[in-house]
Amino acid sequence: MTNFASGRLEGQVALVTGASRGIGRTIADSLLSEGAQVWYGVRNVTAEMEKVQSGSGNKAIFIPLDVADGKSIENGLDALLNRSGRIDILVNNAGIVRDGLMVRMKDEDFMDVIGTNLFGAFRLMRSAVKVMMKQRYGRIVSISSVVGTTGNAGQANYAASKGGLVAMSKSLALEVASRGITVNVVAPGFIETDMTDVLPEKIREKALENIPVGRFGKAEEIASAVRYLVSREAGFVTGQTLHVNGGMALV
Ligand code: NAP
Repeated sequence: MTNFASGRLEGQVALVTGASRGIGRTIADSLLSEGAQVWYGVRNVTAEMEKVQSGSGNKAIFIPLDVADGKSIENGLDALLNRSGRIDILVNNAGIVRDGLMVRMKDEDFMDVIGTNLFGAFRLMRSAVKVMMKQRYGRIVSISSVVGTTGNAGQANYAASKGGLVAMSKSLALEVASRGITVNVVAPGFIETDMTDVLPEKIREKALENIPVGRFGKAEEIASAVRYLVSREAGFVTGQTLHVNGGMALV
C-alpha cells in the first residue's frame, strides 16, 4: 500500500469504484492514508481484500459493486449509507476497453463500454448527489482519459464514454454548485497498469514517442490529482478536467 501524507480527510467517507487494482486501488489507498473511511467498490471481494480490511480497523471496507449492474450499485450504496450515514467523496474510476475500428465494432462492444464507463458513473452520481445535497457538501471526481478529448482510432466506444464523462460532469457541476458540491474530472494519459500492460510493444513504443516527459505515468500521479480535487481546499474548482498526461496532449 502506498503511503501518502495523512489526516486531511479525517471524518470523511469516500467511495471509489474499480478499486480492486490499478489506478482505482491506488486512489482508494491514498484517500485512506489521508484519513478517510474508504469503501473500495470491487466486483469480487477476495481473501487478500478481507485481510486488508481487518488490518485497517475497518477503515478500508471492500464491497461488491459492479457498476454495470443497477441492483449492485443500489445494494452497495445502501450498505455504505446504512453503516456510514454519509458520502463525502465519490470517485468514478471503474472502466473497460473493447477496442476495434468502428466499421467492425459490434453493438455489444459499444454498449458494454458505455454501460460501464458512462452509465455506471451516471447512476452512482445521481444517487450520491442526493445525499451530498442534504449534507451541503460533496466531492465527485470521474476518471476520464486523454482520448475523451482527442479521440483515438480504434477506440470510438471508449472515447465516447470518456468524453461523455466530461460533458456529464460539467452539467452536474452547474446543477449542484450552490450546494457545496464540486464535480470534476481527471483525464490520464498513458499510465502503467494492467490496462496498458497488455498493449503490443509497438504501440507502447509509439505512445512513448508522443510523451514529452519521456515516460509513462504512474497510478500514484493520478491519485495525487484526485487528492487535490477531493480536498476542501479545491472548493472553488468545479466542472473542470485536469489532464495528467506528461504533455502528450495540451488541451
Ligand atoms: P485496469 O487496471 O484495467 O483496472 C480496471 C478496474 O476497473 C479494475 O479494478 C476492474 O475490476 C474495474 N472494473 C471493470 N469493470 C467493472 C465493473 N463493471 N464494475 C466495477 N469495477 C469494474 O485499469 P486502470 O488502468 O487502473 O484504469 C482505471 C481507470 O482509468 C479506467 O476508467 C480507465 O479507463 C482510466 N484510464 C486509464 C489509463 C491508463 O493508461 N491506464 C489511461 C486513461 C484512463 P476487476 O478487477 O474486477 O476487473
